[in-house]
Amino acid sequence: MNDRQLLDGQGIAPKKSLGQNFLHDPHTLEKIVALAELPTGATVLEIGPGTGNLTRALARAAARVIAVEVDDRLIPLLHDAFADQPHIEIVHGDILTLDLAARLGDAPYTLVANLPYYITSAILRHIFEEMPRPQRIVVTVQREVAERLVAAPGEMSLLAISVQFYGQPRIALRLSAGAFWPRPDVDSAVVRIDVYERPPVDVPDEKLFFRVVRAGFGQKRKQLRNAISAGLGLDKAAADALLWAAGIDPQRRAETLSLEEWAALARAVAGMRG
Ligand code: SAM
Repeated sequence: MNDRQLLDGQGIAPKKSLGQNFLHDPHTLEKIVALAELPTGATVLEIGPGTGNLTRALARAAARVIAVEVDDRLIPLLHDAFADQPHIEIVHGDILTLDLAARLGDAPYTLVANLPYYITSAILRHIFEEMPRPQRIVVTVQREVAERLVAAPGEMSLLAISVQFYGQPRIALRLSAGAFWPRPDVDSAVVRIDVYERPPVDVPDEKLFFRVVRAGFGQKRKQLRNAISAGLGLDKAAADALLWAAGIDPQRRAETLSLEEWAALARAVAGMRG
């Protein structure tokens, strides 16, 4: 039975507002699982199991799968589908507000998901900043977002810096809209992020680092001297001095800076504050 028949039979229509586009191609599902390179005994967190397509493929490769689904209509279907597989835990809730720390414990885990696109950035931020950090992430995202995640200086964004601070992303697979039902309006890509044990750059403290980055990106397409002065509440001369101290020309724009340059700027801000 395909997803359409399964949901029709229950009188359920996919909700666009929840990003419900189900991935049904078995080869793609297997490739996603292979990309995760799950170690023996792996624990996997899946966000949004939907009708359970990816969950089924994960169930064959992982020792434990925690699958978090927000749509209450799908929970009974998921319980039925995995009733005879005790290593699959279906959790009903919103990934952005659920507390999974106790369930995940201290053991390493891998995040594998075909993400709901309307909250991709929020989910990535939540995973890196609020949750126990996974060892590896393999996620299907909108292709345009995938390109932004792997961007290089010249095309950086707050999202790219946020992800590249914690891990190394690469686009592993490009998917056409036809791989999903219902067909989304956009193309997709699978991104694998190998999460670092510690950040690749030296920062005084993470909160300050992200305050500085947010300030820099706060005023789109403006010179950094203006963005940093407005974002950190400094006069222009002080902003110029900080940027020069970090070896950055104040006339440059936020999207041109590398991770290392943001780190140097954060160190300069910490130095200024003593
Ligand atoms: N994994 C399935 C697949 O590949 O066919 C479904 C993927 S679908 C793109 C995204 C899923 O995420 C949907 O089932 C949707 O209900 C669920 N979802 C949306 N927002 C969520 C949230 N805040 N927390 C948990 N699940 C969510």
